[in-house]
Amino acid sequence: MFKCVVVNGNNYIPLLVKRIVYFSLLLALLVYFHQRGAVVWRDRRKRINIINMSTTQNNTSEIDGVCDMLNNMNTANNTDSIPTCANCGKEGSDVNNTCNKCMSVKYCNAACKKKHRHKHKKECERRVSELHDEKLFKQPPQKEDCPICFLRLPNLPPGTVYMACCGKKICRGCIYAVQERETAVGLCPYCRTLPSSSEGEMIKRYEKRMSLNDANAFNNMGSYYKDGDFGLPQNYTKALKYWHRAGELGYAEAYYRIACAYAMGRGVDVDIKKSTHYLKLCAMGGSDMSRFTLGYFEARAGNMDRALKHWKIAVEGGDNTSLKYIKMMHSNGDATKEVYAEALRSYQAYLDEIRSDQRDEAAAANDDYKYYDSSF
Ligand SMILES: [Zn+2]
Ligand SMILES: [Zn+2]
Ligand SMILES: [Zn+2]
Ligand SMILES: [Zn+2]
Repeated sequence: MFKCVVVNGNNYIPLLVKRIVYFSLLLALLVYFHQRGAVVWRDRRKRINIINMSTTQNNTSEIDGVCDMLNNMNTANNTDSIPTCANCGKEGSDVNNTCNKCMSVKYCNAACKKKHRHKHKKECERRVSELHDEKLFKQPPQKEDCPICFLRLPNLPPGTVYMACCGKKICRGCIYAVQERETAVGLCPYCRTLPSSSEGEMIKRYEKRMSLNDANAFNNMGSYYKDGDFGLPQNYTKALKYWHRAGELGYAEAYYRIACAYAMGRGVDVDIKKSTHYLKLCAMGGSDMSRFTLGYFEARAGNMDRALKHWKIAVEGGDNTSLKYIKMMHSNGDATKEVYAEALRSYQAYLDEIRSDQRDEAAAANDDYKYYDSSF
């Protein structure tokens, strides 16, 4: 606009007006360049942000150089994007020979891997033990719910009954309500099948369930072979085979039985290392009994922190014995008041989830149906 006035200006415009126009023009130019500079600066800032996000552009100006530097700093920390040989520092997608122990470092070839072995050993062992603990102390899966009352199943064995007719695990409260209170003929509360009339029929039901890959059926059959129950011959080899299959199908408790077999040399040679391995598998799968045992081993070895970690997880799963041990640790000064209070709260939360009038009614009718322990 100002430029227009100047271009079209002529001698008829008084001197004062001319000066005002020139001054305004000068001011406008100053404002224009100032603003343009700001826009350029804003644009550049924007580009820095974009580049930091996309990490793809190459620029030649000074600011772009800084952008590239920032960009490189961002990507240098991301070891996933550019594999780097831990020995010679070579980068590229062909650096893919991974340390098969810790899986945390890569090499460009076997020679680099071998050369770096001595230097990496300590760090590798530290990382392996870190990964092992991450897996071991991860919150295990929670117990499933009763398919009839939809309440969480208790962790004490008398609180849950496995039905070989339909393969369901049903809480003692629901079993009691149907089998003893309603019908008195032992009907399955889920599929309404009558109980087996003979041991042979029961084993046939189990065989059918096993053909359907029912983990629980494999586990129980393993136990029947271990003891030679229900007309079956005692056979440790078969027992172990079935427990392994149950474990593979997701029934973690079966690993506890395998751990016991290795600890006692039943059907296998005594092997404490293998026994501990299966105990850990069992605990990671959600067995509170195995979790307690692992904590007990740690406490005996003087690793009170690790013992506490195991017992805290076990208490969350409803293990009353672990709660008693945490209480003991507190009395001995190995656990704070807060830790003990937290464990008490965890156990109370567990009880709140599993308790019901129907289950209490069953427990009151028969001592063998007791499904939780409130003493601590
Ligand atoms: Zn290399
Ligand atoms: Zn390694
Ligand atoms: Zn139920
Ligand atoms: Zn059934």
